[in-house]
Amino acid sequence: MKELVLATRNIHKKREIESILSLEQIRILSLLDYPALGSIKEDGESFEENAIKKGLSTANFIHKLTLAEDSGLEVEALNWKPGIYSARFAGPEQDDRANIEKLLGLLKDIPWERRKARFRCVLALCAPKKVLEVVEGVCEGMITFAPQGKFGFGYDPVFFLPEYQKTFAELAPQVKNKISHRARAIEKIKGRIVQFMQSLDV
Ligand code: IMP
Repeated sequence: MKELVLATRNIHKKREIESILSLEQIRILSLLDYPALGSIKEDGESFEENAIKKGLSTANFIHKLTLAEDSGLEVEALNWKPGIYSARFAGPEQDDRANIEKLLGLLKDIPWERRKARFRCVLALCAPKKVLEVVEGVCEGMITFAPQGKFGFGYDPVFFLPEYQKTFAELAPQVKNKISHRARAIEKIKGRIVQFMQSLDV
């Protein structure tokens, strides 16, 4: 069976990508299957740099077709921060609750109409020593005044979609996985994954 490695240890991202890709006949692995590969430092200055770094390091080590992603939340009233620092916004340890608390604290005096935000996801498809394709997906919304909903991860409970009148955490995962930044990026790259799976000998 053909294999695709996702360059992440984040189980939420892995589940979402797997469900959006829904590729039969392809086994999806992640870095959770390769504990010997140490953590990859995300020291790039953009989502794209970080995705490429994760993708190349993983493909060079594992010698398989690799899909890497870097994503984050950009908030207009915060000059589009936290961006690439979304996971460690409240400190080096990834802690969703602390990140949300910090975000809501910074926005506490900002009225509804100025709480625009967007999620951004960059995907890099890599083979050993080769970047094959890079794409981006964006999803626009607003930041709520308090967390709402129990699904998802990260900033999902405070990311509100006006069209659905719900946060990502209130939407069923199947719905989030149709409209999210990650879904939009994956839709752009899915055909290329299938194509490289068939033609590359990695
Ligand atoms: P990284 O790509 O590993 O640097 O982490 C991205 C961070 O952005 C995550 O830890 C979350 O805090 C946030 N993030 C990215 N995508 C989503 C999403 O779909 N929902 C909620 N938070 C997200």
